[in-house]
Amino acid sequence: MPITPLPQTRPLLPFKPADSALWLASRSVMLIALYYAVGLWGYAFTPDPYGIPLVWPSTGVGLAFIYLYGYRLLPALGIATALIMWQFAGDDVPLSESIGVVVATMAGVGLGAWALRRFGFSPRFESLRDVLLLLLVGALAASGLAATAGAWAMAVSVEELSFSDTWWLCWVADLMGLLLVTPALIAWLAAGGRHFDSGLPMIVLLAASLLGVSALVYSGALETGLAMPLSYAVFPLVMLAALRCPIQITTALMLIVGAIALSGTGWGLGPFAEAGLEQSLLSLNAQLALLVLTGLVLAALRNEREAAEARGRRHLDDLARAGRLSTLGELSASLAHELNQPLCALTSYASASRRLLERERLDDLRDALVQLDSNAHRAAETIRRMRAFASSAAPREVAIAPRDLITPVLDLLHPELKRWRVNIDIDVAGSLPRVVVAPVQIEQVLVNLLRNAMEAIEPRLDGTIRISARDLGTALEITVTDDGPGIPQERFATLFDPFATWKSGGMGLGLSISRSLVEAHGGQLTATNLKDGGARFRFTLPLEVPHARS
Ligand code: ADP
Repeated sequence: MPITPLPQTRPLLPFKPADSALWLASRSVMLIALYYAVGLWGYAFTPDPYGIPLVWPSTGVGLAFIYLYGYRLLPALGIATALIMWQFAGDDVPLSESIGVVVATMAGVGLGAWALRRFGFSPRFESLRDVLLLLLVGALAASGLAATAGAWAMAVSVEELSFSDTWWLCWVADLMGLLLVTPALIAWLAAGGRHFDSGLPMIVLLAASLLGVSALVYSGALETGLAMPLSYAVFPLVMLAALRCPIQITTALMLIVGAIALSGTGWGLGPFAEAGLEQSLLSLNAQLALLVLTGLVLAALRNEREAAEARGRRHLDDLARAGRLSTLGELSASLAHELNQPLCALTSYASASRRLLERERLDDLRDALVQLDSNAHRAAETIRRMRAFASSAAPREVAIAPRDLITPVLDLLHPELKRWRVNIDIDVAGSLPRVVVAPVQIEQVLVNLLRNAMEAIEPRLDGTIRISARDLGTALEITVTDDGPGIPQERFATLFDPFATWKSGGMGLGLSISRSLVEAHGGQLTATNLKDGGARFRFTLPLEVPHARS
């Protein structure tokens, strides 16, 4: 059996190796401008008197760009770092140390980007591993090296400061900035022109709530006693975003919350501002780091769960198809017999036509050709049904009338039903509403139930199977009832378990696959015995337009 190929994973990174010089120049300008702009913003939170910024998002910008667009942008990163050094450190830091800071930043960010690519980081935060990788790379390589260089430059330029005093402040500032900006930049830039279709109202509501709460908390309008507990209200909102919105939205919302909180606190407003700039920004950094990690971890866990569900669905499709192929194998004798009849008719009508043509009996010839045509169609139709049932195409959901689901199954099983002299009693009104299903999967459920029913009544011959359907208002219920011996009570507990069989040569997979297929459609499959003998299997399917029945 050919194995259904896994859907091709989209390329992780948006750039192509052969991008033009113009492309490189535009990305370099973007990097320098953004690095410089967030650097200016970072310097706004510099506590006196030593000029150590307490939030430093520039390294995070550098990491996102080098990871996404490659090492060709390292020179641009060097220029951006030199510009910032020149602007803010000026004559305080000797040239050799300034060059040291530039080189260390390039090395840290380059190493970080290399590690992200080397260890297969996904910009869509597909698993918990991606979050941990970004955290480690930020802490050890990107922020680690950049902060070491920054602390070293501070220690050189300011006599009263020792390297150990400043290293950890620089490291916290770098890592915090990186946690805030890198996920958002990576998520947006890697998404390229891809659109997401998930609920705009939810996104707007979350954005408005987060903006409202942050503005209230960090505008200084509330007392600290009230503002401090309220500052934690962003957690459930970010958690909701992580569970419901695309990663671009979650990371952007966290970035906006962080920017408002840091700006407010930097200006001495909000619940964290009272302890002085250094202490307040450090406390806020801790809260924001936890917020970002909460959002990223939840988004990654949600992605992991969704990927596992998709894998489960693919496995069910593969298993279901294997079941259909095995059913076709079992039906092959009767299907061959079914095919044989029209093929024999074809040969005899063809030779009759030749004889009629030789005798120029054109009227009789026309009748013979009509017969030939209809038998050819009958044979082709049998083959088409078999091929459709064995189809390996990914099952697609369509709206279909219940009768159109049941008729092809009865056609497929027709030779078997005839051979076992089973009477079929159908009570499926043409007026029933349509259901939304993957037809090949529900046909498979019906084939499984009908064959089980046939096997149950077989020793008696001339048994009856009744198929009925009724509209429950919220769903359609299809029932398959037989007048066989019923299901022994002790079998009910494991009836739907895989490999539960009481037939010689049975696989015990039919009912288990059928239940999974029905549940994948949001329905339920159950079994009961009738009082006066016989078994009844019922399952529900989603209606195209559910309605309450009066
Ligand atoms: P298999 O047909 O390979 O045994 P299934 O999962 O289709 O696997 O069925 C499991 C068991 O359920 C059967 O072995 C049979 O004992 C019981 N069963 C299913 N349908 C009926 C029925 N209509 N009447 C009585 N027993 C049934």
